[in-house]
Amino acid sequence: EKVIIPRAEHSVSRSELSPNAVKTLYKLKEQGFTAYLVGGGVRDLLLGREPKDFDVVTDATPAQLKKMFRNCRLIGRRFRLAHLHFHDEIIEVATFRSTVDPSAEAPAEETAEAPSEAAQELPQETVVEAKLLEEEREGRRRRGHHGPSMLKSEDGMVLRDNVFGTPEEDAVRRDFTVNALFYNIADFSIIDHVGGMEDLKQGLIRTIGDPLVRFTEDPVRMIRAIRFASMLGFNIEERTEAAIEELCGTINKATPPRLYEEVLKLLLLGAGERTYQMMRHSGLFAPLFPHFDAWLERESEGYPHARVSKGLEWVDELIGQDEPVSPPLLIALVFGEYLEEKIAEFRDGGLPPQQAADAAVAAFAAELTPTVAVPNRVLVAVRDILSLQLRFQKTPGRNGRGVIGRPSFLDALQYLRFMGKLTPPKKSLADWWERYAVQQAAGQPTAAAEVP
Ligand code: ATP
Ligand code: MG
Repeated sequence: EKVIIPRAEHSVSRSELSPNAVKTLYKLKEQGFTAYLVGGGVRDLLLGREPKDFDVVTDATPAQLKKMFRNCRLIGRRFRLAHLHFHDEIIEVATFRSTVDPSAEAPAEETAEAPSEAAQELPQETVVEAKLLEEEREGRRRRGHHGPSMLKSEDGMVLRDNVFGTPEEDAVRRDFTVNALFYNIADFSIIDHVGGMEDLKQGLIRTIGDPLVRFTEDPVRMIRAIRFASMLGFNIEERTEAAIEELCGTINKATPPRLYEEVLKLLLLGAGERTYQMMRHSGLFAPLFPHFDAWLERESEGYPHARVSKGLEWVDELIGQDEPVSPPLLIALVFGEYLEEKIAEFRDGGLPPQQAADAAVAAFAAELTPTVAVPNRVLVAVRDILSLQLRFQKTPGRNGRGVIGRPSFLDALQYLRFMGKLTPPKKSLADWWERYAVQQAAGQPTAAAEVP
């Protein structure tokens, strides 16, 4: 049942969209296409929140988009998405499609197949366009068939789909009702195919369709349910919540790189502590971090490991003050106590401090990769943050300038500041290094850019 909410009966106005999003929508409309704003942008505007980004859906095909917009790059496996590059913003434009391929929801970086900047010469372009046209023909052909249009594995995971769809099909393949509302640029109405307006009013995160089916298709949706509930202060609808309880153990069917991205988003929301509690409660945390979870359960000398929560509260505080928290700093803060214990074990085994830090992070990485794949560059930075903690004890010692020149210096100093909140001597140590860095920067204009 399609419900149309006219302009007079909802709160979204054009002036709240980014000018680039408005331009994109109008250009599509002027060329005779249907163009809707969709997803988090519509949801957030209806809730009076500031959207993070603006996504557009249309009946224009990727090839048509490429012709129409000079700032267009096609990304994603099978070239399904167009990214319009404006100088301060990327507007994502997708063609209506009938089912979702979870790999298409993966971070663009990993799925990008568009020719690299350097390789973007004419002949390449022609190849790309030919591929696109073929894909569109295939899409149309498959749409001609009735019956299931998406490919599922035996256990119900969505493997691949390549099918353009109607607006309604595009709405129902989305994850939650509140994420599937369209804002129609043609008459400024909201189009609701899934009961999303009602759930928005009630503050409910509800899957579209049977939650058991939808979470089996793509287990990452379980984490997303928690992210949206936490971010919006919503409740998870009863059946949706029961399905998470039942299927939480299947979360690892999603690929480790995707789980890494989702966990990052989850903890960098600005409500990381609450989200972490919800994750532990829901049963999703243990399968993602089995070793760490077992360690959390063990407690230390009868006390719970309180530093994880404190670390996340501090992350929330920083984000609340618009101070960015890098992935390595986040990981160091969440897993710091655990990693320090590992370092101590390696030192007891006879390794010198820096090598013990290396070994601890390597052991941590080996535990983690089968479930949540932290990229190597991030792990290297985590190791630097921790080994700088050992180095910070000497003030400044030999080569103090080398210390403040390290790429992870600022993150390491943030980590030390956090530790300073728990133990006062570390606070004076953090103050010392901060003063030292500022002085060095003042005396050395070339190094100034690296100092706060
Ligand atoms: P945020 O404000 O955090 O960006 P969002 O709702 O925009 O939230 P995105 O991850 O940017 O979330 O995805 C955009 C839209 O794509 C979602 O609103 C949803 O409609 C759809 N979507 C994303 N991931 C999935 C998924 N795994 N399954 C089904 N639909 C999805
Ligand atoms: Mg978004």
